[in-house]
Amino acid sequence: MFLGLRIRNLLKKQYKKTNIDVSNKIKQPQMQFKSTKDLFVYSKNRCVNALKKEQPYEHALIVDTKKNMVIAEYIGDVRRCKIEDLNQLDLDKKNTAIIHGHPDNVPISSKDIKTMLNSGVYQVIAINSNGEFSLVAKTLKKDKNINKKFQEFKMDLYNEYKLSPQENNLFTHDVLSKHIPLMGLRYVSNYKCLK
Ligand SMILES: [Zn+2]
Repeated sequence: MFLGLRIRNLLKKQYKKTNIDVSNKIKQPQMQFKSTKDLFVYSKNRCVNALKKEQPYEHALIVDTKKNMVIAEYIGDVRRCKIEDLNQLDLDKKNTAIIHGHPDNVPISSKDIKTMLNSGVYQVIAINSNGEFSLVAKTLKKDKNINKKFQEFKMDLYNEYKLSPQENNLFTHDVLSKHIPLMGLRYVSNYKCLK
């Protein structure tokens, strides 16, 4: 009797967990791109166009870089783009990337890194309105204690200093460049303003 009740409660909890909002999901192209480069160019253009709209918004895509296909596409708002069903999707852990728009020159965020660590995604790419990228990726030597290390790594600590947005971007870039490799991850960016 008790056991039956427990199982029913567990099932209820499970159902609640899957009760997710995917109303910002749009139909993605069903085609297979000729190359990963073509897939990236498509994704980049989708993100850049959204950022250049009169009312800019963040656009996000989940892509499979082995099949060269878009798995899912989402429309966000000016601050963020929710991907609520990320952990429900059947993803190829070694070949899935999230490509999404970032307002001008804002590098990868700690939220982006967290998303990557807690999902079946191996890299997250942020695209600015110039079409430049900021990228974080898992590597083969990924640390076993990475989640712990990441929790200890608090980029927000630096926010107590009053910095202009451009100074803040430069600072975040420096912090990422220094700390991300120590966690066994890769961070690369070609944002011109950070050079
Ligand atoms: Zn982001």
